[in-house]
Amino acid sequence: MGEWHPECPARLQAIDDQLIASGIASLLERREAPRASIADLQRVHSDAAIAQVRDQLPATGSYYALDGDTLLNAYSWEAALRAAGAAVAATDAVMRGEVNNAFCAIRPPGHHATPDSSMGFCLFNNVAIAAKHAMQVYGLRRIAIIDFDVHHGNGTEAAFAEDARVLMVSFFQHPLYPYSGIHPAGTAPSHLLNIPVPAHTRGDVVRELVRQRWLPALQAHQPEMLFISAGFDAHREDEMASMGLVEADFAWITKQLVEVARQYANGRIVSCLEGGYALSALGRCVVAHLKALARID
Ligand SMILES: [Zn+2]
Repeated sequence: MGEWHPECPARLQAIDDQLIASGIASLLERREAPRASIADLQRVHSDAAIAQVRDQLPATGSYYALDGDTLLNAYSWEAALRAAGAAVAATDAVMRGEVNNAFCAIRPPGHHATPDSSMGFCLFNNVAIAAKHAMQVYGLRRIAIIDFDVHHGNGTEAAFAEDARVLMVSFFQHPLYPYSGIHPAGTAPSHLLNIPVPAHTRGDVVRELVRQRWLPALQAHQPEMLFISAGFDAHREDEMASMGLVEADFAWITKQLVEVARQYANGRIVSCLEGGYALSALGRCVVAHLKALARID
């Protein structure tokens, strides 16, 4: 999206660098991301939303702005298909028992993309597409989507607002972009557990919210598979927001989710990268997240 843009290719390089530096790169099985099919995208997105990306690609070297901070370049369609395709392929690999769980190191992120529109750096909603795939192809009836990105996953909420098969749990800094996810008391559907927290909230407070709010909801829902919108922009070094989490907090949260998956879902987890813009912190957080997923301590 341009040299100046925080959602930049260096994010994935930073993750790779830290995987190598930490020594866990050689322990992971790596797979290339295939392209999602149009039918995969259509499980979540309207034809107009798909065409909005596909039909407006600019010439190499120029950009087309979908909104103030979401831009297309000549390669955006290909990248968006690979990002969604990674999430779908990871779901297949986990459902077939080829791997216990999977992390998709993908760009662009997805959780702000609504069924009808790309926005907020996100073109298509990777995690929502994968969750729909799990339900429609494998017949799963209870899914959990856990979103720990610092921003509210408005696109994911919109995709499943009417679908109680999907429990969505999240916390997010409030007020902050995209200024959504706040339901007047008593009006939120019971399958949407979005917890707004103020700026400067630290990890100990978030862990207590996870203990008291997320875990009972997840245990009640008994999900057959977990999907994680893994954004790491709640890290205290990340200037996209103002929260105070550190690597150990993301590791702790991931361990709780691994335990939920073990109890109810045969261990099945697909985690998809969302935000995280402080490059060093992003890489370190992904290492902590993967160590917890792989039970490497
Ligand atoms: Zn974010």
